[in-house]
Amino acid sequence: MKILVTGAAGYIGSHTCRLLIESGHQVVGYDNLSRGHHMAFERAAAGSLFVEGDLLDTSLLGQIMRDEAIQAVFHFAAFGLVGESVEHPQLYYHNNVEGSVSLLKAMQQAGISRLVVSSTTAIYGEPETMPISEEMHPAPINPYGQSKWDVECLLQEARDRDGLGFAALRYFNAAGAAADGMLGEDHDPETHLIPIVLQVALGQREKIQIFGNDYPTPDGTCVRDYVHVCDLAAAHLKALNLLEPGTGIQINLGSGVGTSVLEIVEHARRVTGHEIPAEFAARRSGDPPLLVANNSQANSILGWTPEYSGLNSILTSAWQWHRRHPQGYKTS
Ligand code: UDP
Repeated sequence: MKILVTGAAGYIGSHTCRLLIESGHQVVGYDNLSRGHHMAFERAAAGSLFVEGDLLDTSLLGQIMRDEAIQAVFHFAAFGLVGESVEHPQLYYHNNVEGSVSLLKAMQQAGISRLVVSSTTAIYGEPETMPISEEMHPAPINPYGQSKWDVECLLQEARDRDGLGFAALRYFNAAGAAADGMLGEDHDPETHLIPIVLQVALGQREKIQIFGNDYPTPDGTCVRDYVHVCDLAAAHLKALNLLEPGTGIQINLGSGVGTSVLEIVEHARRVTGHEIPAEFAARRSGDPPLLVANNSQANSILGWTPEYSGLNSILTSAWQWHRRHPQGYKTS
């Protein structure tokens, strides 16, 4: 199939482009490069068409869909930082929600009815029971989560109105890097836990600050469900094969295992052999204490089981990427 990938130069987008091509699909990359890296797309999909463009440019999107005879869309292009969304909520509504409206409009005009979209665990807010299943009603507690839930609602409307076939994949904490060390996580500024911990191990930062040690969790630090980026990519392919016009699936993608911030730091010390100094700091606004997936629907509906999401595989692959690319994609 020929697939338009928005956010193709980003972290999860680039890993998915590579897998799509390895699986015999054709890819057209679309990214405004505000946060992505052209090099990531080049490495993932060398020789494929890349268009630098903004999601809000509906006519450019439509033109590419028609000119390239696109059959399905994978939509990764979005901002995804909880802390930033609390400080700048309008950025999130603009880019994530209005951007998706523009994409849906272009798809509808071009007659494309297959769409796989990145969603997030942040739509659930602070659920009272763990693990989180898809039946729990979304109740976001930060603008990032709200923007993604708004997008899912738009998808449901487009399904009912225009016969869209969609899969909204609710990622837990994406982590890790490609096995060959050629693709990985590169954000500027970096705010995610694992890359920051590894930057400390590389000597690029003095210490890791652990945001909050008085949460109602076993060791007082936040618990998250880390899922390998290659497992996420694999789930997108499985979702593509299930897309049916007029139907929508909304599915959690997590490992089903919760890991605390302290456990990540301790495990990273073992993987890297570095001391990784750490200190406790104030809670970060918008952080729920505990987020762990019930991934049984991913298994029963998509036929997906995480293969690489063990902590060791995540940290080892991420460490290989960061060691080889201390300046991210700027490292030649
Ligand atoms: N975290 C931390 N120190 C950091 C960065 C993150 O203690 O320098 C914590 C953060 O508060 C959260 C967890 O690590 O509980 C995962 O944060 P991350 O930003 O990686 O992902 P998020 O869960 O926000 O999507």
